Amino acid sequence: MPFHFKELTPYNPLVPKSTKYDIAILGAGPAGLAAAIYAARYNLKTVVFDAGCGRSTWFQKYENYLGFPGGVKATRLRELGRNQAERLGVKFHPDEPVERILPRAGGTHAVRSKRRTVTAEAVVIANGIEDVLPDFEESYEYEGKSMYWCILCDGHYVNGQSVLCVGKDADGVDLTLRLRQFTKRLAFTAEDFSKIPAWELGKLARAGIPAYEGTFKEVVGRPKGHVRSVTLALTGKSKKRYGAEKKLAVDAIFHRLGIQPYNDVAKRLKLRMDERGLIKVDPDTMETGVKNVFAVGDIRHDALHQLHSATYSATRAVIEINRRLYAKRFAIR
Ligand SMILES: Cc1cc2nc3c(=O)[nH]c(=O)nc-3n(C[C@H](O)[C@H](O)[C@H](O)COP(=O)(O)OP(=O)(O)OC[C@H]3O[C@@H](n4cnc5c(N)ncnc54)[C@H](O)[C@@H]3O)c2cc1C
Repeated sequence: MPFHFKELTPYNPLVPKSTKYDIAILGAGPAGLAAAIYAARYNLKTVVFDAGCGRSTWFQKYENYLGFPGGVKATRLRELGRNQAERLGVKFHPDEPVERILPRAGGTHAVRSKRRTVTAEAVVIANGIEDVLPDFEESYEYEGKSMYWCILCDGHYVNGQSVLCVGKDADGVDLTLRLRQFTKRLAFTAEDFSKIPAWELGKLARAGIPAYEGTFKEVVGRPKGHVRSVTLALTGKSKKRYGAEKKLAVDAIFHRLGIQPYNDVAKRLKLRMDERGLIKVDPDTMETGVKNVFAVGDIRHDALHQLHSATYSATRAVIEINRRLYAKRFAIR
């Protein structure tokens, strides 16, 4: 391992000690960590709160992120990012979700968790989202090991493999069709075909992809989280055609069942959001509708749901925050 964190000092002499911060960041995923590193390198006093959940806490290895030819585990990247930020003097409060952001006079904000309240000149919301996982026992054990949602991230893993796609609407059908770029061995399943337009299901039939209406009866994973086979309990026309059950040899599962944004704090602050619950921001600065509150990473309505876009948005936000603080503190008139 090329990193030796013991040698690094978590101290920046230019940053004063107090619970007044320049930037408070909600979330220690890739977006929040990138924001913290950029902020600290501007000598801005920075604090990061985290809840211990999020997309970057699953089992995946990132193989499309610059600088890691062999890939990097999501949890390892978080660890590296936190060490990099701590080395620059950033304060972390892990397992301490923020519950409220309370605007104060003059555009500053109080940020409150169960254990403490800090004040900050600017707040960066990097809370992320999570994906609704297929409904079978311990399905979380599979996410990132042999179960995925993102073609751009993980399509490459399933080149030539046997893939079962789980959907609930036209999006799921689209995901399945797009996977033809990687493999011919595809099948589709959904609990309720009546929610999927007939012409969409027709596309699967024309592409020669079998579609099964039903629920998961059994998933066999060996070793844990690495799917080998799936048995579906069939319903509707699928039951008439194939019988009560269908057992499929499966190397990987892709799902498109919706998202759960971590947007409680944003809701309490009445931030503008889209119909999925993702926060609307100014695309140049990442500022939300509330002054000096920014949103970065996957929680943004126009996010690409990639590490590069998460870190990019964090960079934009911190540059803007620093521009404002610089103007306030260092302007020469
Ligand atoms: C299986 C899988 C494979 C993937 N593969 C790739 C890939 O190959 N390449 C790629 O670029 N991307 C990939 N991604 C997507 C990538 O993980 C996300 O784009 C990235 O994690 C987004 O970063 P984020 O910081 O916005 O959100 P997250 O990583 O979700 O982090 C959000 C953080 O906010 C914290 N939080 C939530 N609520 C609060 C609160 N109230 N207070 C404080 N903290 C809070 C959470 O604990 C979490 O740590 C993959 C995702 C998954 C699930």
